[in-house]
Amino acid sequence: MLAYFAAAMVSKIPDQPLEIEIPEEISGLRMTRQRREVYRILQQERNHPTANDVFMRVKDRLPNISLATVYNCLEVLVQHGIIRQVNFERESSRYCPNLSEHGHFHDEATGVIHDVVFKPGITLADVLQLPPGALIQDVEITLRGKIATT
Ligand SMILES: [Zn+2]
Repeated sequence: MLAYFAAAMVSKIPDQPLEIEIPEEISGLRMTRQRREVYRILQQERNHPTANDVFMRVKDRLPNISLATVYNCLEVLVQHGIIRQVNFERESSRYCPNLSEHGHFHDEATGVIHDVVFKPGITLADVLQLPPGALIQDVEITLRGKIATT
């Protein structure tokens, strides 16, 4: 997923690290420098960081940014539907830039949160007995477990 995104969105500058280009405006929201850097971090490392994780990473580029500002940036990005806020029981919120319909698999052994998607052609109605006429507007699927090592 990251590789695909990088290939699609990155402009190549010789002898410089690849950089994801962030538009000036997304979904009607003006992307200030701070919002842009916060969003860039979420796009670059798609491992569902907490606000504090984002804060630690964004300080490389914006040394004077505060944790409160990072929270504000994340909140406004969530409000505009640019990223998703993901909550797991008793844990800090995490943030996900993947807007396609997906759920999460929480590996409790490592703490890693993986995106999980429906197999092609499968919809919720194929696996769940829904009330007649139910129109699904939002899906939140969280699976917990661990990944067996062989
Ligand atoms: Zn996700």
